[in-house]
Amino acid sequence: MAKDDLECSFCGRKKPETDLLIAGLDAHICDKCIEQAHGIVLEESKQGGAKELLSDLMLSKPKVIKAFLDEYIIGQEATKKSNVCGGL
Ligand SMILES: [Zn+2]
Repeated sequence: MAKDDLECSFCGRKKPETDLLIAGLDAHICDKCIEQAHGIVLEESKQGGAKELLSDLMLSKPKVIKAFLDEYIIGQEATKKSNVCGGL
């Protein structure tokens, strides 16, 4: 089998149509399917309890960042409002 004849065993994309095609024992997977599979793994670990510390970190971090941003933005808005009120 020529190298360019390889295709993703999941979506059927040919090697030239993919950015990356990883070979397994009897199958190949492309970058798009890896991304999709990774998303499924994250979803599964969310529902079925975290299996890995890494996915825990990936889920909690954005929440922490959002909480920080919310506080920061609310703080800014309050400052802006009080400035406007003070100016009127
Ligand atoms: Zn694929």
